[in-house]
Amino acid sequence: LTSGLEAAWNKLKGEEVLTKENIVEPMRDIRRALLEADVSLPVVRRFVQAVSDQAVGTGLIRGVRPDQQLVKIVNDELVKLMGGEVSELVFAKSNPTVILLAGLQGVGKTTVSAKLALYLKKQGKSCMLIAGDIYRPAAIDQLVILAEDEVVVEFVERILTCGSHLHSQVVGVPVYAAGTAIKPAEIARQGLQEARKKNVDVVIMDTAGRLQIDKAMMDELKEVKRVLNPTEVLLVVDAMTGQEAAALVTTFNVEIGITGAILTKLDGDSRGGAALSVKEVSGKPIKLVGRGERMEDLEPFYPDRMAGRILGMGDVLSFVEKAQEVMAQEDAEELQSKIMSAKFDFNDFLKQTRAVARMGSMSRVIGMIPGMGKVTPAQIREAEKSLKLMESMIEVMTPEEREKPELLAESPARRKRVAQDSGKTEQQAPPGTARRKRRSESRRQFADTSARPGIDKDFQ
Ligand code: GDP
Ligand code: MG
Repeated sequence: LTSGLEAAWNKLKGEEVLTKENIVEPMRDIRRALLEADVSLPVVRRFVQAVSDQAVGTGLIRGVRPDQQLVKIVNDELVKLMGGEVSELVFAKSNPTVILLAGLQGVGKTTVSAKLALYLKKQGKSCMLIAGDIYRPAAIDQLVILAEDEVVVEFVERILTCGSHLHSQVVGVPVYAAGTAIKPAEIARQGLQEARKKNVDVVIMDTAGRLQIDKAMMDELKEVKRVLNPTEVLLVVDAMTGQEAAALVTTFNVEIGITGAILTKLDGDSRGGAALSVKEVSGKPIKLVGRGERMEDLEPFYPDRMAGRILGMGDVLSFVEKAQEVMAQEDAEELQSKIMSAKFDFNDFLKQTRAVARMGSMSRVIGMIPGMGKVTPAQIREAEKSLKLMESMIEVMTPEEREKPELLAESPARRKRVAQDSGKTEQQAPPGTARRKRRSESRRQFADTSARPGIDKDFQ
């Protein structure tokens, strides 16, 4: 997805603004990239339309190239597509809150049940798990240990998730297991009863999955759901799921009704096709993500971070955001027309310099520009120093000189005065720190060389 999108940005290099015409090609690339990432066609169509509308309607932001601006627009639309805000888990008004987990085999349901228990426990909630997977071979292993007690056993690391040895944290939550002979719906009924008796805050039910969606699984889930009357029905989706993600989510949502999804295995190299489809096809948000095999690797789903990951252009985004914050659009348009009519004066220069200063230290701003990593800290310090120097020179100019840079260009005497004044103010100041001395030193140097044409040229 990322490389496909890169082609889109590249087509805009050298353009000055986004227009209806010059975004046609890039939009085609974006469309192709999304389709290749298995986002469904209707979703892609709506997305592309939204981005195009935005792109053409957006004015120029000073300092931001059109391709960077398009990256930002695509990012914002991606965030919107994935639900915008973080979607919190919903808790029942009275205990217990019941969470039912569903999904295909191997997507990480059992792992998620334990992770979720730990996650909620950390929030001060008491939890209980119901082991509802009575089919999977691994699940039998899991249940052997549980069966020793038959009813409620302490759930410690590795008990529920067989075969994995990366669990660094003991979950320590009771599990209700009733062997493999009873139907899941009955296990659910008994488990819920037990949870009420123990007055736990949250019950999490793990269920069996199949490799494919089949009627038996859906029927079983429906039955379990009827018994539990869950607060949340969360569909566990493997982030690597490609093409079939949209259909999968749709089917589960239509058949059993989900309240949200959990995206697992985000630590893999998937770039997020599944993440894009969930909300759009079901209207239900992704609430949590699993990004590792350890028990603590579960966290809320942040649409903005996911968008950033999909685009892989976090640097450009924060750069554009900063530029947007700092510069009002009218300012930029005014500036543009000034540059066009060659009326860029020292006042504008000062405004620009200060806007850059407001964006943070120059090294940070430069660091945000792709390809500028090679600039050394010393070079940046030099640049900052000469900017400050120019600033103090502008400060001693007359208003007339500030508005008409050509006055300085035409008159060596004026140039000399400005250079001297800006240096002098510093020299006249009471004896200061070594640093100030150094600064005045460099100013003198500047004064000596001020007659050199290069400096004037920069201001014209
Ligand atoms: P279930 O069949 O849906 O219950 O899936 P499991 O919970 O048994 O998980 C299947 C495999 O995926 C196990 O080896 C897990 O350790 C692994 N797994 C689950 N979640 C994650 C995750 O977020 N990241 C990674 N890398 N592996 C995961
Ligand atoms: Mg399982």
